[in-house]
Amino acid sequence: MRIVCYGCGKEMSQSTVEYQCSCGGLLEVVHDFANVDADKLKCEFQQRLSERTGPYASGVWRYKELIHPELPDEYIVTKYEGNTGLYRSEQIRQSLGIREIWLKAQSENPSGSFKDNGMTVAVSHGRSLGFSRFTCTSTGNTSSSLAMYAALAGSESVALVPSDQISMNKVLQTLAYGAKVIEFDGTYDDGIRFYERYGEELGWYICNSINPFRIEGQKSIVFEIAQSLRWEMPDWIVIPGGALSNVTALGKGLHDLRELGFIKRLPRIALVQAEGASPFHKLISQGEQELVPVKRPSTIASAMNIGNPPSWKKARQFLASSSGVTCSVTDEEILEAKSLIDRSGIGCEPASAATVAGLRKLLAERIIGTEESAVCILTGNLLKDTDVLRRTGINNRILSSQLSLESVKSLI
Ligand SMILES: *Cc1c(COP(=O)(O)O)cnc(C)c1O
Ligand SMILES: [Zn+2]
Repeated sequence: MRIVCYGCGKEMSQSTVEYQCSCGGLLEVVHDFANVDADKLKCEFQQRLSERTGPYASGVWRYKELIHPELPDEYIVTKYEGNTGLYRSEQIRQSLGIREIWLKAQSENPSGSFKDNGMTVAVSHGRSLGFSRFTCTSTGNTSSSLAMYAALAGSESVALVPSDQISMNKVLQTLAYGAKVIEFDGTYDDGIRFYERYGEELGWYICNSINPFRIEGQKSIVFEIAQSLRWEMPDWIVIPGGALSNVTALGKGLHDLRELGFIKRLPRIALVQAEGASPFHKLISQGEQELVPVKRPSTIASAMNIGNPPSWKKARQFLASSSGVTCSVTDEEILEAKSLIDRSGIGCEPASAATVAGLRKLLAERIIGTEESAVCILTGNLLKDTDVLRRTGINNRILSSQLSLESVKSLI
């Protein structure tokens, strides 16, 4: 395993605490799979499915050889993250009119979002470097996840959270795990810039999406999907896009699987953004050279409310290398899809529903064919945003002052 600058190719020390090179490029973990016995490893991945304790019981560390092969087990902090359901729903399939659709419920992770897949690796790696203080900037899910792992490790965490358009549930969850939360006037992007300036001086381990070890951990999302489907991948993987960590992580994971011969063919990636926060979709669809940040991003899907995603260059490369496409959907379309997913019994937070909304749009535009198959990644849990639920999901609530057979019969 090497740590390399994505911009200029410079190799960094294994114990670097930087996440950015002096050239401005982000860092990337590069593996050497030349000596990996893929058949043997595949058998081991299969055997590890029966583990109930220890790192291999985790849906991330099960694939340790492809994620962080050299990390001694003593540093690993795990809540057996991953291991999430891959569901079929006939209601959703029929509503979209596609041959086959699966929903990968990353919402079932221990802190309620896919951020756990990457965070277990970032915090474990940070511990191996000697850190006991961790920090991030976050719209709420990253901070919840970080706070959970830091607490589990007996360490401290601090989160910078923009006060604009966040979900209170996520802030309260972060605080409940014992983290300190600094709510500030500004956007997610202001938080990122703060670390670019002061990160080193603070001396805390930074666990934002630009942390290359989070990307390594998030690759496990496609490893799990592949293993669940007996290494037969769908035609499409549909993901929501905010900070764009998943485009990079899933794209990278798919390339790993193909390089090792675990899968024959790369699925295509469809990335969906919310219309009010869609700088990456604009970049791709209008063929621009440079990303033009959205100054005041605005969407009901708080997890995607990011106007200046720092890793857009990496994301663009991984999107291209998996013949990916992008689209954007309105908040209305997101809420309509969310209602469909919630009523199917699976449930998710608004950002996750952008996947099904985007899939509907891409089917209508015939970019995705009805005879194809897709996996939508549901990134966050239904209970992550009760404000949105209160605004949209209470049609069937009946307030009756007295409970009597007559009142019940008259109302149902
Ligand atoms: C972080 C997050 C996203 C955005 O993911 P990126 O990989 O950063 O683009 C989407 N949905 C939820 C629920 C999230 O927590
Ligand atoms: Zn560089």
